[in-house]
Amino acid sequence: MKIVKTIDEVRRQVKEWKSQGLSVGLVPTMGYLHEGHASLIDASHRDNDRTVVSDFVNPMQFGPTEDLESYPRDIERDAALVEEHGGDIIFNPEPSEMYHEGFSSFVDMDVLTKELCGLSRPVHFRGVCTVVSKLFNIVQPDRAYFGKKDAQQLAVIRHMVDDLNMDIEIIGCPIVREEDGLAKSSRNTYLNAEERKAALVLSQAINIGIGMVRNGENDCAAITDAMKRHISAEPLAKIDYVKIVDLATMQQIPVIDRPALCAIAVYIGSTRLIDNFFTEDI
Ligand code: AMP
Repeated sequence: MKIVKTIDEVRRQVKEWKSQGLSVGLVPTMGYLHEGHASLIDASHRDNDRTVVSDFVNPMQFGPTEDLESYPRDIERDAALVEEHGGDIIFNPEPSEMYHEGFSSFVDMDVLTKELCGLSRPVHFRGVCTVVSKLFNIVQPDRAYFGKKDAQQLAVIRHMVDDLNMDIEIIGCPIVREEDGLAKSSRNTYLNAEERKAALVLSQAINIGIGMVRNGENDCAAITDAMKRHISAEPLAKIDYVKIVDLATMQQIPVIDRPALCAIAVYIGSTRLIDNFFTEDI
């Protein structure tokens, strides 16, 4: 397992693998890896001969008041986890390697990015689409792995690959949770003990929604109202959104009459956490 800092070196290595007829999987991450990331690396290792894990806190996807500076970083710890899960390379470039002076080309998307996280994080998906396109161009993987935890991101990437005819198979992987239900996230490290307990309202609300859908409820307002009531009872929680959207367009729907996504974003203290369920997984 190698830590690689330059685009040239990743390209050289991938070219060598491809000349040997080996398949390549890519797992894009922002580092500070946990078992959620590990599940993606495991999936790539299972499906491909070689796996590249990118480890890059992408400045372009953070808004001016967001947590770019405080985002946790630990490349040595990440390297150990990648090695343990069968990854072959960690690509860990400096921002200046990814965005040279004068950088001025962007990949942007309409419709799907206008709802949910796109509303509260207006520059986020342009940053995500741009960096993921660059990673796809640099690594040219056969397959790329994304978590369902970031459900809108997964939908946006699938759409981008389709719109722009990128010859890469996108694999969505299930949400990995802590034992008590909290979805694993690098941002969970921001929570103090009291907030960590309060954060359970997210997965509890998700379970309320899943339970209602299982029982045949298909009225979106009835489901999201029940979820919001549960979250609002926690004094440390502040709802950003609780919504049910069409999985294909990310636009809100009144009734679950097609594949849908129920997505929530909640501030616990000053930490913004997300969680969701896909109706097709119920
Ligand atoms: P991040 O480092 O937070 O940008 O995440 C990198 C990738 O890991 C994204 O595709 C995430 O959706 C995925 N991921 C993060 N947390 C989890 C989790 N708890 N379960 C599954 N995938 C996850």
